[in-house]
Amino acid sequence: MPDRNNQFTIARDGNACAVIVVPRTPEPRLLDAVADIVHVIERMAGPTLPVLTEGIQPGDGAEIHIGRTNFVEKSRFLPESLPVNGYRVAVCAENGQPRLVIAGPTTLGTTHGVAGFLTDDLGVLWGMADPLFEDIPVRREVTVGPLDRTERPTFGFRTLLGPDLTWARRNRVDDGNRTLPYYGHSHNMHAIMPPDQYRDHPEYFAMRGGKRIIPDGHFGPQPCMTHPDVIRIGVEAARKYFDENPTHRTFSLCPNDTKEFCECPNCAALDAGMPMHRGNKIYSDSYFYWVEAVAKEILKSHPDKHLGTYGYWATVLPPRRKEKLPPNVVVFLTVDSSQYFDPEYEANDFNLLHEWRKVAHLVAYYDYYALGWFMPRVYHEIAGRTIKRIADIGVVGFHCEAYTHWAHNGAQFYLASRLGWDSSLDPAKLLDEWYARMFGEAAAQMRAFYECLERCWMEVKRPGRWFQGFDWIFDQFDFWPADARQEAWDLLENAYAAAKTEITRRRVDYVRRGHRTAYLMPVSYERAVALKADSPTLENDIRLVGAAYDEAINRYRRDIKTDPTYGHHYYIGTTYAEERNFLWWQAFLGDAIEKALAGRPELREKLVAEDTTVAELLRVRSEADAETLRRLGWVYRDLEARRGR
Ligand SMILES: [Zn+2]
Repeated sequence: MPDRNNQFTIARDGNACAVIVVPRTPEPRLLDAVADIVHVIERMAGPTLPVLTEGIQPGDGAEIHIGRTNFVEKSRFLPESLPVNGYRVAVCAENGQPRLVIAGPTTLGTTHGVAGFLTDDLGVLWGMADPLFEDIPVRREVTVGPLDRTERPTFGFRTLLGPDLTWARRNRVDDGNRTLPYYGHSHNMHAIMPPDQYRDHPEYFAMRGGKRIIPDGHFGPQPCMTHPDVIRIGVEAARKYFDENPTHRTFSLCPNDTKEFCECPNCAALDAGMPMHRGNKIYSDSYFYWVEAVAKEILKSHPDKHLGTYGYWATVLPPRRKEKLPPNVVVFLTVDSSQYFDPEYEANDFNLLHEWRKVAHLVAYYDYYALGWFMPRVYHEIAGRTIKRIADIGVVGFHCEAYTHWAHNGAQFYLASRLGWDSSLDPAKLLDEWYARMFGEAAAQMRAFYECLERCWMEVKRPGRWFQGFDWIFDQFDFWPADARQEAWDLLENAYAAAKTEITRRRVDYVRRGHRTAYLMPVSYERAVALKADSPTLENDIRLVGAAYDEAINRYRRDIKTDPTYGHHYYIGTTYAEERNFLWWQAFLGDAIEKALAGRPELREKLVAEDTTVAELLRVRSEADAETLRRLGWVYRDLEARRGR
């Protein structure tokens, strides 16, 4: 179809009006994005667009060029200043034939271009990772143009660690590859200084309590940060990395995941007098002494490269210095914005960011949205205002550990993906659209549900505390009072009742199923706390504890654990979330039941024989190890403390 007024028709009346052309050797991720276009046009207008490979299958007429085809290269379609994750999308012509071109300098830029075109120009919305939350408008004709847009994200990089890769691609979330500007971190000291390689040099390692400690893996102590050979080894490691990976932009100089640093006389002299922070000794002066020495050498040999470092835990405070760190140093400042319900905590974080910017030219924001929480932790307003604020300040990147619990965090991840791309957008309008597009006739009720969860998180009477509740499921229960929990559940039921179409009913039900475990876990806990040995209904009371536990765990196994869009190790497996927190939860229920049955051996025997859930909880309690028993002590201690308030 010839272009009329620079318009480009993709499909009309059930027919394809163009073909897709891809470069000769496309990367798999580019073909994934092409499949997204084909899929969207099928759903939107009916036809399946043919996909041709350049130079193999000849095209004729209207073509959609995806990525760096010959036409893109020859016509110098891409501005040289585009970052690797930027793109240009335009309707134009080649030898009088219409072209729709979507391309970026790299495959990542091109896939962002496709996602941007499908969402901004064709109106598609992928609200959550499950295919149920795909919203594609239906049209008789799909025509675009005039169109010529060059886009680049607000931040050098925006990475959400955790969400499904398909959802991330369709929402322009960066993939964390090392060609991204400023992106390069991870606990790396154990790789820079492999203990096995330097066992003959104990003086390279941390002196703690008068002894050198050779670490074991990435949780072991850092090396001696002032030893000249350790500086030399750091320089060599960075140079080797850049020489072997010429397209990579940033090498990680980040410490191991521990707060233990060298305290030899030289290192200790640098760190002397530094105030404690959050109860931890701070080693920023010795660590950044080493960073500066390495960075200055890398500046000579690889002036266009960067070095990633952490402002985290024992290095969370900036080093005390008059001059800025070398310009190639990127500091990833780790924050916990979930705690910004406390204005003082938030002010402290931004003060810290301000102090870091006095010391470092390049500061990135490293946040944690989900971190394996089972109870809802919804803070849309904080998320929106924080991303806008750090963009205004000039933070160079946004990285977030965001292990998805879609029923709770879906809207927040969507918000972060949109604002991370374009921080000038209005978070309230983005949320309006998300509710309306995802839940149609039940949008108002679903908004009320999420706002109830958010109110509960925000209107708390406790000070903000770094990582509070992450490794302790009982804190999570306590942060979600019974009346708020019931209100949220009732609102969700209202939304289900308001849903009139099949798609809305299924979407509300997805959230309801994903939320049910969270609702029932604290119910079982509160029923266990309320057990009284002298209750005339003790048998039934205990069975009700078992019933709430049973439904919660079965729902978890059926609706969360089997859902591939949840499947991150922070939920599934040996980290805090599942195995440890679930063990403590089960052991507490068993303990409370055991105590209530102390003087009732016949009733105990009867329940064990008749109620397999109660029998299971008693078994978990009887097999509890010393660590679990110690932690049960904490639960009772906290319960006492609350009764005393
Ligand atoms: Zn030292």
